[in-house]
This record gives sequence, C-alpha cells and structure tokens, in this order.
Amino acid sequence: MTIERREFDALIIGAGGAGMRAALELAQADLKVAVVSKVFPTRSHTVAAQGGVNAALANVLPDNWHWHMFDTVKGSDYLGDQDAIEYMCRAAPKIVYELEHMGVPFSRLDNGKMYQRKFGGQSQNFGGERFMERYAPNAKDLASRDVVSRSIASEVRDGRGCGPNKDHVMLKLNHLDEATIAKRLPGIRQTCITFLSIDPVEEPIPVYPTAHYTMGGIPTNRFGQVVSPLGTGPEEPVPGLYAAGESACVSVHGANRLGGNSLLDILVFGRASAKHMIEYMKENRYHRPVNDDAVDKAIQRLQRWDKKGSGESATAIREEAQQVMEAHCGVFRTQDVMDEGVEKIRELRKRLDDAVISDYSRVFNTARIEALETENLIDNALATVVCAAARKESRGAHSRMDFPDRDDKQWMKHSLFFLEDERIEYKPVQMKPLEVESFPPKVRTY
Ligand SMILES: Cc1cc2nc3c(=O)[nH]c(=O)nc-3n(C[C@H](O)[C@H](O)[C@H](O)COP(=O)(O)OP(=O)(O)OC[C@H]3O[C@@H](n4cnc5c(N)ncnc54)[C@H](O)[C@@H]3O)c2cc1C
Repeated sequence: MTIERREFDALIIGAGGAGMRAALELAQADLKVAVVSKVFPTRSHTVAAQGGVNAALANVLPDNWHWHMFDTVKGSDYLGDQDAIEYMCRAAPKIVYELEHMGVPFSRLDNGKMYQRKFGGQSQNFGGERFMERYAPNAKDLASRDVVSRSIASEVRDGRGCGPNKDHVMLKLNHLDEATIAKRLPGIRQTCITFLSIDPVEEPIPVYPTAHYTMGGIPTNRFGQVVSPLGTGPEEPVPGLYAAGESACVSVHGANRLGGNSLLDILVFGRASAKHMIEYMKENRYHRPVNDDAVDKAIQRLQRWDKKGSGESATAIREEAQQVMEAHCGVFRTQDVMDEGVEKIRELRKRLDDAVISDYSRVFNTARIEALETENLIDNALATVVCAAARKESRGAHSRMDFPDRDDKQWMKHSLFFLEDERIEYKPVQMKPLEVESFPPKVRTY
C-alpha cells in the first residue's frame, strides 16, 4: 500500500465542536491545519445538541460563574477537578460572546439579549404521578441527569412503568403551548413525530434512560495536553498530543455531567488546546521523524478486515457488546453482575479477532468502518466495566446496590485504565481550584 505523505503543523482528528474550535484558533494563528473526520462536520454529534450551552450571563436571573462552578462540582459528585472547573466556568461568558461575535445565531429575549432557558418536562409513571417530586423534592424534573435517570429506572423496576411491558415512563410537555414547543424544541418534536408518530403537543413522550454521554476519556490537563503517569509524575504531558471534547477527560464532569456543560467543555478546551499548541510550536518548529512501526501497525489494523472466509459477523459482535453493557454496566450495578460483564466483554474481544465482514471494497465501505468502530467500542467497554467493577462505592452515574454510599475516604480519585495488561492506576481528584476556595464534598441533594 502506498501512502501519500503530507506535512501540517497540526493534525486534528474529528470535526465536531471541539476539533473545529481548535482548528479555527490554529488557522487564525496562520498555522497549517488538517482536520480528518469520519463524518462531515455538520453530521457530528455536536449538531444534535439542542438543550443549550451553559454560561453565567445573568440575562434573565441573577447569576455568576462561581455559582456555575459550585453546581458543576456538586453535579460531578465531587469527582471533577476543581482547577479545570473554575477555568471553564470563568471562561464561559467570554467564550459564548466570542461565538456570538463570530455570527453564531442564539435565541433572543425581547430586549435583544441572549435567551436563557429554565424549563423541563414532567416525568410521569403509569398512574400519572409526577414522581420526580418523591426523588428530588426541590429540583424535581430539573434535578441532575444521573438522579433523573435513576428515578425513572426505579419506577420501571418497581412495576410502575407505562405501556404493555411497563418498560418506560411518560414525559409530558403539555404545560408548554404549541408555539413554545415549536420555537424551543423543534428537533425533539420532529423526532417524536417521525419515529413514534407522536406529537408532544398532544401526547406524552415515552422515555427510558440510556447511555447518552461519556464522562471518562483520554486524560488531559486544563491546557488540553494528554497526560499519563508514565514519566516522572502522575500527570506527565505527552509531547505534542492533545485531546478535547467528549473523547477527553479534563475532568470537569467527574461522575456526572450537567446538561449544557458539554458544549461549553468543547468550546473552552478546544480553544485552550489550540492556544497551548501555538505556544508549543514556537519551541518545536520541526516534526519528529515518523515512527514507521506505528504506521505499519495502523495499516495492519486496516488490512486485517480484508481477511476472507467464514467467521462470525462483526456486526453481530457489536450488537452483543451493546446488550452486555446494557445488562452488566447499566443504571444499577452490583459486583457479580459487573464481574460477569467483564468476562463477557473479554470473550467478545477474543471473538472479534476471528470475525469477518462481507464487503471488501476500498471506497465508502461502511462495513469496514463499523468493524473498526466495534474494535474501539469493545476496548472502551472493557475499560468502562473493569474500572466500574473495581470502584466499590456509588458516585454520580455509578450507582451500586451493594455499595450504596459515596466513599470519600477511598474514592476521591480518577481511574486510569491500561489496555495492554488491564491494569488500573489512580490519580487524585484535583480539589484545589485556581484562585477561589475549594468546595469540600457534601451530601448531594436536589
Ligand atoms: C442528542 C444529543 C443532545 C445533546 N444535547 C446537548 C446539549 O443540549 N448541551 C450540551 O452541552 N451537550 C449536549 N450533548 C452533548 C454534546 O453535544 C457532545 O458531548 C459534544 O457535542 C461533543 O463534541 P465533540 O466535538 O467532542 O465530539 P463530536 O461532535 O461527537 O464530534 C466527533 C468527531 O470525531 C469524528 N470521529 C470520530 N471517530 C473518528 C475516527 N476514528 N477518525 C476520524 N474522525 C473520527 C466524527 O466524525 C466527528 O466529526 C448532546 C448530545 C447528543 C447526542
């Protein structure tokens, strides 16, 4: 296979919000940038986000970045790094105004300022009860998402689900009039009409919790530098390698992400990474020689899917992996169930070695892409379930029936997974913010 060689100052993998924000900053600094993406920028997940982006603009009610910081630390169930959280929340208003000045359209208030949102739906079980009042008496449906999803799963588990299989709850939006739904939730309304033949203006929407977001990811510091405990300290930067957005873990979300904080994360840390790269490149103008072994390894990984003959289909293995993660690493967890999940994912990982695809074409081969994705998914699933099984406490979205309490003595630490030998190392949560006082762990109620 001949590979064309091209040189750039920066190579960005992924054209979502994080990658594009970084690319923009780098291009403005006159650097030569390549963005390589699996899907077109406007097909990235970033475009699916409809809820909004968090920033304490105080356009509707009094607000400030320090309250936002507290909400984020509390929302993370005290597993978020407080230096990075302070940095993000302080930067938020500036970052959002920067977007506005670039011409990004925002919803507006009558006075012309940016609109700020505070409304939710009302989750009801089969008896029509607005059950969130029992789980989060103050915040109700606006409680943080780990609390809401656990409450829905509890209602269903306890037999109060709706429908013939009692497997979901109902989300009522009829306290909002048609004009508000059309204006504020057009995408959600259209999705319901297209896929469920339900118009939320008239009927409630059936809902059930699923995996929506990855709080973990490639460990980075608040400059976007990828860090690893391989060198002299637990957070040694890997020269020239950065990560930002949902693939990264700064960590600002800790054990539970707040709605609206992910779009902020991609903007703040996409930009911060690029700023750091610009400085890095002043000192490191020339490329290091390419490691041919790494290139060979990447090519072998691609060519492995040219293997013809009989074997299990990669698609079937992917579906099985999804079911295993749903059943063994879901909303409520126990040791036995997760340990079984670890074994099943290990087994699937082995089976994938002999799996095949049926399309060998070289152009627009979606089967090959899906097979490569399955490899990635299974490696990520293994990291997730091994680390979850090792964490003997409940915190944020990690809710264990056998260890129902948070254990701040043992578990104020991030898990770092090493795929080669399935080793876990830990690094402490950064409790010291940049300038303000630390928020010590407290009981989390809503
Ligand atoms: C339905 C939905 C609603 C949401 N609503 C909100 C919200 O209201 N507020 C909020 O803050 N957050 C929300 N989120 C979360 C938020 O949108 C995402 O976390 C965020 O947009 C992620 O941005 P990103 O740039 O990190 O990644 P993405 O936007 O997911 O982009 C990833 C990019 O990487 C590329 N890529 C992936 N793998 C490869 C590969 N192997 N090689 C090359 N390229 C690759 C993809 O093509 C894509 O361009 C929502 C998410 C979803 C799915």
